[in-house]
Amino acid sequence: MLGHELAGESWSISTFSSDITIPLGHRCMGVLKVKANRVDDPLQAHGLLIKGPEPAIVLVALDWCEVRNDSYQQWRTTLAQAAETSIERVMVCSLHQHDAPVIDAGAQVYLDSQGLQKELYDPDFHKSCLDALVQAMKRSLKDERPLTHIGYADALVERIASNRRVQYSDGRVTFNRYSRMDSGSIEAKADEGEIDPYIKTLVFLDHEMPVAAVSCYATHPMSHYGNGAVSGDFVAIARRRLQQETPGVKQIYLTGCSGDVTAGKYNDGAPAMRAVLADRLYLAMKSGFEKARESDSRRPLNTSNCQFSCEKLTLPFHDGEAFTREAMLKELADVNQSVENRITAAMGLSSLDRVERGEPIDLPCIDFGGVKMILFPGESFIRYQLMAQSFAKPNPLIAIGFGECWTGYIPT
Ligand SMILES: [Zn+2]
Repeated sequence: MLGHELAGESWSISTFSSDITIPLGHRCMGVLKVKANRVDDPLQAHGLLIKGPEPAIVLVALDWCEVRNDSYQQWRTTLAQAAETSIERVMVCSLHQHDAPVIDAGAQVYLDSQGLQKELYDPDFHKSCLDALVQAMKRSLKDERPLTHIGYADALVERIASNRRVQYSDGRVTFNRYSRMDSGSIEAKADEGEIDPYIKTLVFLDHEMPVAAVSCYATHPMSHYGNGAVSGDFVAIARRRLQQETPGVKQIYLTGCSGDVTAGKYNDGAPAMRAVLADRLYLAMKSGFEKARESDSRRPLNTSNCQFSCEKLTLPFHDGEAFTREAMLKELADVNQSVENRITAAMGLSSLDRVERGEPIDLPCIDFGGVKMILFPGESFIRYQLMAQSFAKPNPLIAIGFGECWTGYIPT
């Protein structure tokens, strides 16, 4: 519990950022063939630290594809130590851009054993990112602000998200609506399917003055990818634009539960579509932010109406002959296999090790006085977000995806 009814105890908030752009030559999305060969726009980490009567809460959002297993623990442990709080209270998530890295320390150790150093990710680069963000968090404390109120609003996002599931006229069902589809295709013409069309914005205020805003929307965040052009894609462009217009307010974007949600219906993958999607998201993000900071969306935050809880989730490892330890070790060691297949095997082995160690996944939830925020693992499908929101009704709930990412897809 965050809250005891202790008079006079106050809360504070500080915000921080750092650059986490991968170096040229770095692998993207764990297994893409083309490595980073230019930077279209930088990858960034943004975070906030909330201190109050109980141990601190840390939220960090990374413009990375995924962080898994030991590496995910490393982020939370290091941030928890620096913030003098417990690891459960450190919520780290990726936005899941694909021209961005996948990090998994155990998998890279397997690859090192085969002479495949830095093939998944560069551990020195990774450590420098974590160190820089921790330093930024520590420095942020000198600009700490009182946290007295929160504000919440949602706003309709038009023409971005669509579900991967498409039903053809003959009744067949496919899950092939990826991030980009030809504009004349059945996938582009089919209905949006099951999505959550609203971006949800939670604003943290020092009385009337917003200090930070967290906006969360459920879609895979890609317009196009795979050519080695590093980018935070349209979600980062939208965030940066709003950030430029709102100096003094840290704008943090989060990807919701969108394992099965992409921009495929509305995006043909033409380079110009990145700016179009960014525009649409920016308009909704701005509208949500402006509504959330208004006086009738604001409510005081006090020690009696907030609480933190954390469930433990144990998920099984994948079934099937390709996912036995023997099969994955064989693939890892097979020099006739592509490096990408060997990386996939290494990531599987790292996750299997973790499952066999019996390490569950944390499912943390913060209730900010009637607005809940939950961090889901991996590529949780949209139905989980909709279900969590229905449980919270009539209060709003922000479901974040892409916490611990070893799971891959979490279908319903
Ligand atoms: Zn994905």
